[in-house]
Amino acid sequence: MNILVINCGSSSLKYQLIDMSKEEVLAKGLVERIGIEGSILTQKVEGKDKYVIEQKMNDHKDAIKLVLDALVDKDNGVLKSMDEISAVGHRVVHGGEKYSSSVLIDDEVMKYLDECIKLAPLHNPPNLIGIEACKDLMPNTPMAVVFDTAFHQTMPDKAFLYALPYELYKEHNIRKYGFHGTSHKYVSAKVAEVMGKDLSELKIVTCHLGNGSSLTAIKNGKSIDTSMGFTPLEGVAMGTRTGDLDPAVVTFIMDELGYTVEQTNELLNKKSGVLGISGVSSDFRDIEIAAENGNARAQLALDIFQYRVRKYIGSYAAAMGGIDVVVFTAGVGENDPVTRLKACEGLEFIGIEIDPVKNNVRGKITEVSKDGSKVKVFVIPTDEEMMIAKDTLELVRK
Ligand code: AMP
Repeated sequence: MNILVINCGSSSLKYQLIDMSKEEVLAKGLVERIGIEGSILTQKVEGKDKYVIEQKMNDHKDAIKLVLDALVDKDNGVLKSMDEISAVGHRVVHGGEKYSSSVLIDDEVMKYLDECIKLAPLHNPPNLIGIEACKDLMPNTPMAVVFDTAFHQTMPDKAFLYALPYELYKEHNIRKYGFHGTSHKYVSAKVAEVMGKDLSELKIVTCHLGNGSSLTAIKNGKSIDTSMGFTPLEGVAMGTRTGDLDPAVVTFIMDELGYTVEQTNELLNKKSGVLGISGVSSDFRDIEIAAENGNARAQLALDIFQYRVRKYIGSYAAAMGGIDVVVFTAGVGENDPVTRLKACEGLEFIGIEIDPVKNNVRGKITEVSKDGSKVKVFVIPTDEEMMIAKDTLELVRK
């Protein structure tokens, strides 16, 4: 059974076609500059040359049509016809409170997704445009949505409520939702499998550190707390996002500096984080090079990031009454030994000891803690697409 996984951004679209009988990726691709001059699709198939189509794409429907064409292309594709796609799994960032797991798309789900736009005005609309486009082009193919928020719906109210007037939660759904759920779910299940342990017996802190970063406390297989909040802005400092911030700073900026809501949103989401501190880049590789060359603000940005990750690990040890395993994943977590080492520095007192030699690893499943470290530390590459495909398959089978 082949599942097509679609992840739509505002002007881009990532996709993977996965043969679930072998859990094997048949093709993966990226469409960029949708609706902008210079639209381009790049598809990779194991054992074949990269397939590139440069063609005007006015909207996501054009892009998805081209994805389907690329998949069935006689020379560069992997399918004889579109009928070989059994189902489509769509990533949707915000699923609100209603769905604590993935769900098959029907009219009721579509209506609810529309209602969720107000909770994630930056992230949900492109996801929904992708779903609509797919429905138009493949009206008879079952489709599922997999929410970034769903895994965190197990958080208790003491963890997800802000100390605001309770009515704001009841009447306006203002609460912590958490994101990157698909990744946290995947790597926690994977680490249990690798350790040969039952997920339901472990206390895990998963550190998804990429351009956007979040940490999750997973006790007995369930998310009990996570660092992102009402939106993906809360938590550790990120590539361009502030992370945790005294809300009075926001009102001060608006009041004293005359920022509009739009400008403030832009400042907090796009101009802050390690980019804002370093003034160099939002890309950790650039910042590390600048820091090595003596740029003090670049070093400070890295220090702030690592310090905040460390504080969250410590606070989740407190929240769960201990930790059995820490997992590092995503771009920075998988590929940056220095961040892992520094984020765990000083945590020996709770039993976390990284082995600097084992830790010198990039992008593959590895235990990086010292032999005898009470708390195990692992690098587990995330695979959100596989998780989305697995959820979709399960729903279609039901
Ligand atoms: P993601 O959002 O998961 O794709 O992660 C993107 C981030 O990972 C970018 O900031 C990259 O700089 C960072 N990254 C990727 N490879 C490395 C590396 N070898 N060392 C440090 N950071 C890396």
